[in-house]
Amino acid sequence: MNDTALPPCALTIAGSDSGGGAGIQADLKTFAAHRVHGLSAIAALTAQHTRAVTAVHVPDVAFLRAQIDACFDDFTIGAVKLGMLANAEVILAVADALEHHKPKHVVLDPVMVSTSGARLLEPGALDALRTRLLPMATLVTPNLPEAELLIGERIEDVDAMHGAIDALHALGTKAVLLKGGHLPVEAARDEVVDLFADGNGVHPMSHARLKIDAHGTGCTLASAVAANLCLGRDLRDASIAATDYVHAALLRGYRPGRGDVLVLDHF
Ligand code: PLP
Repeated sequence: MNDTALPPCALTIAGSDSGGGAGIQADLKTFAAHRVHGLSAIAALTAQHTRAVTAVHVPDVAFLRAQIDACFDDFTIGAVKLGMLANAEVILAVADALEHHKPKHVVLDPVMVSTSGARLLEPGALDALRTRLLPMATLVTPNLPEAELLIGERIEDVDAMHGAIDALHALGTKAVLLKGGHLPVEAARDEVVDLFADGNGVHPMSHARLKIDAHGTGCTLASAVAANLCLGRDLRDASIAATDYVHAALLRGYRPGRGDVLVLDHF
């Protein structure tokens, strides 16, 4: 293989999902599907299947920093994706590491609670997320419950989604991909509308609403944006390609466990 055929590298700093549907496992499968070489620094480990998270272990932050440094010391990293970071100490360690290594792109999925209802971020960590990571991210990809916690306001219709984008910009966010999947059904009808905003306008991205309970969509979306940035797309095109990718992966999804939730097919 010559150098021009070398895949670019993306780094995920996130939590491991033993069930393989979300977290680091979904990120690495997404990178591979985009022909991007995946690197990982594991910030938290979950014992998890398709029905529940049964335990969480957060390794020492010095070991997390060693993983991040090892990746930056040897690879040219095109984009970093941030997922489950568990607590404020981990967030501060990640922020320090990124300040040191200065990656070109940081896609922040502000993971807080799993679809199955497990808390993946301590409530006391919200402030560290808001003040240290939001301003350093190239793109933040909250769902509506996460955006509500970040801005402290309810979001119940499309107008409120536009207001939330303004509030997130006021907190120092450069660009937002606000996911509309949690909008009340009467406000959303048959479509899911996600909004991309980079301070130069708002671009809506619509897909047919699929009546399925899926697991790992947020992780997959953020890592698909990171992969597309590594491949040279701009932020808006990377966001469009990533929402299309998640929709297609959902259509091909399958149920590997006894739970009723679908995992994505990362083709
Ligand atoms: N487990 C881990 C390790 C995650 O990082 C995430 C999401 O980001 C989840 C579980 C939750 O995934 P979902 O809400 O799609 O079930």
